[in-house]
Amino acid sequence: ARKPIIAGNWKMNKTAKEAKEFAEAVKNNIPSNSKVDSVVGSPALFLQELVESANGTELKISAQNCYFENAGAFTGETSPAALNDLGVDYVIIGHSERREYFHETDEDINKKAKAIFANNMTPIFCCGETLETYEAGKTAEWIESQITNGLVGLSNEQVASMVIAYEPIWAIGTGKSADANIADDICGVVRKTVEKLYGKEVSESVRIQYGGSVKPENIAEYMAKENVDGALVGGASLQPDSFLALLEAV
Ligand code: 13P
Repeated sequence: ARKPIIAGNWKMNKTAKEAKEFAEAVKNNIPSNSKVDSVVGSPALFLQELVESANGTELKISAQNCYFENAGAFTGETSPAALNDLGVDYVIIGHSERREYFHETDEDINKKAKAIFANNMTPIFCCGETLETYEAGKTAEWIESQITNGLVGLSNEQVASMVIAYEPIWAIGTGKSADANIADDICGVVRKTVEKLYGKEVSESVRIQYGGSVKPENIAEYMAKENVDGALVGGASLQPDSFLALLEAV
């Protein structure tokens, strides 16, 4: 059985003081990681503080992006080697906001996935379709293409150990969460695509999250579904009580 993984994505929110207060408020109430992997995805600015606060607890820390080179003349970028050195465990890549506003391509994201594995961290690889694609009935082929191009060249072992987040763009920050059956279907498309490319054993081990207006009140509906192994949560991960309620609902 796959272990559930709940990850908060703070996006570009909080100050250093607020990030530290959050960690102090939740760190002693994180459920055992024999039951669920609990992750906070923070702006790069607060990662060091969060890793220090979470040290010795069950809380894991994620970055929201990184570059695909370890060092060099790349002004403003974040080194995956430096993230690993800090004690960061996960890196979110290919979030729809990065694809849309910062023009990241499947190829960029694929290079980032490889760099993250090379630095002993785990990618949380995001995919998802626009409302237009959804309404045109082209979600499955869109997702297949994002997965195929984004994971190309990864080993079976790497894909088996990674996390894929299905986040329909029309459900992000809109309060219009996808129906749990739709989320299950598309997470199933992700799993089938992984099976086609990497085989059954890999597809049964990769963990797939749903993301898009998940909150403590609806998370259980998603977690009950066969193909949904967790959630990637924006707004409802910002407050300690709400974050803990998401973990407790698993
Ligand atoms: P919301 O939970 O705020 O809809 O954001 C989802 C998301 O984009 C997480 O990465």
